[in-house]
Amino acid sequence: MTLQSVVDELRERPGTGEVIPVIDPATEEQIAEFTDCGEDAVDDAVARARATFESGVWHGLPARERAKIMWRIADLMDQHVDELAELDSLNTGMPLVQAQNIMPTCAEFFRYYAGWCTKLDGAAYDVRMTGGITGAHASMHAYTIKEPFGVVGHIIPWNGPMMTACAKLAPALAAGCSNVLKPAEETPLSALLLVKLIAQAGVPDGVVNLLTGNGHTAGAALAAHPDVDKIAFTGSTEVGKQIVRAAAGNLKKVLLELGGKSPVLIYDDADLETAIKVAAGGIFVHSGQGCVCGSRIFVQRSVYDQVVDGVAQAANAAKLGGPKEKGSRIGPLISQKQLTRVMGFIDEGKRDGVEVVTGGHRLDRRGYFVHPTVLTNVDPAMRLYQQEIFGPVVTILPFDDDDEAVAMANDTTYGLAATVWTNNLSRAHRLAKRLESGTITLNCQLVFDHAVPFGGYKQSGWGLEYGREGIETYMQTKSVWTQL
Ligand code: NAP
Ligand code: MG
Repeated sequence: MTLQSVVDELRERPGTGEVIPVIDPATEEQIAEFTDCGEDAVDDAVARARATFESGVWHGLPARERAKIMWRIADLMDQHVDELAELDSLNTGMPLVQAQNIMPTCAEFFRYYAGWCTKLDGAAYDVRMTGGITGAHASMHAYTIKEPFGVVGHIIPWNGPMMTACAKLAPALAAGCSNVLKPAEETPLSALLLVKLIAQAGVPDGVVNLLTGNGHTAGAALAAHPDVDKIAFTGSTEVGKQIVRAAAGNLKKVLLELGGKSPVLIYDDADLETAIKVAAGGIFVHSGQGCVCGSRIFVQRSVYDQVVDGVAQAANAAKLGGPKEKGSRIGPLISQKQLTRVMGFIDEGKRDGVEVVTGGHRLDRRGYFVHPTVLTNVDPAMRLYQQEIFGPVVTILPFDDDDEAVAMANDTTYGLAATVWTNNLSRAHRLAKRLESGTITLNCQLVFDHAVPFGGYKQSGWGLEYGREGIETYMQTKSVWTQL
């Protein structure tokens, strides 16, 4: 599918609401537009998904057949890797090379979960009941069945459109669910091609349905829909709470992968050169628009100045540019709205007396580029320290000992990821226990594998994705009893 055919198809999708422009964040020019699909489209999509679930056209297939089709999706994605990468990089502004590196990982979700299709077994229990209400003694046989949840609504953000779509659709399809996908209004492009490839691979019509619309219309209607059994949401903590409220009507189950304010602890015994390089990459990559970006760095006092200088140098050396600009390593922020939000935090910090070691301004060019920014002299009560900025902005504060480092790291409502840089093995594992995060990385950052569970502690989420837990998210367990 060429860019032009995606743009044409997007424009022609039926809608009833406002016209939504799709903007290239590196040039601020409009690349496409579409009409908000409106609530009727949500009803239609849910009805189509429900019909396929009731008929069993997907979950009723032998598991090995589902697995083959899922494997085919991955193969088709590999064949279309250049188009997918181009769509996501154009739409998000991320460097094309980066998008090209990510796409095989996205495809791999379907291969990894294809393997799970044939392994979704329950357990058997040999039960000897003694007592109970009747006081009877009985031998019982009990077993569990794993069943797909039913109709799942997937609502995803703009920062990694294909990654989040695949991380949700692959396990949900492997589990046998029928699906409705709503990409972010800013980044609908690659999803159009993805659903085509899914259909081409042999997933029956109606099992995966696409909604192109706004969050407050299509997203809200999907989250509140009485015939949706589960919502799998990735996005901000604020919208996550709205999803929970909307889900209360039919008490649909909710998976939430939310925001973060992830701490990075750097000790004086660490390999400082590597720690500085990776910690800088860990916040500035994708202009800080990653949920696990390490936006709060804490440094043992003896090496504090060295780390601040090193991260600032890395910030200054980072080459910003559009997806296809030569040598560009970091793209723009996604939108004018995000630019205003990020600059709002920085400007407020400046007024309140933070020290801007480097950055603190947008680039003097077209596109929503913000210079990677290092802030010190930050008061923990400040908004920019407490709230997720989702931009290339890092605060660096000193600490003296483990207790102080842990207290500062955990002083947040979020709990997505935390990193420790130290060559003291015992300390590394001690801190892994004390840090309140769903993911802990020791002497590394931004690591990922399809098999390793991922989810947030505290207000960073509910439930887990990836690995065995990632498919169980889309299944429920039924217990069956029989008296022998
Ligand atoms: P967002 O504003 O929360 O939006 C996420 C999705 O929800 C979008 O599709 C959005 O639609 C939709 N939405 C908005 N309001 C809604 C409502 N009332 N009901 C239902 N859906 C609604 O997040 P974002 O700005 O797109 O993405 C950035 C956030 O995602 C950050 O907080 C980041 O930390 C988080 N994130 C978390 C993870 C993780 O795995 N933990 C991964 C990536 C990103 P619109 O497009 O119309 O806004
Ligand atoms: Mg949005």
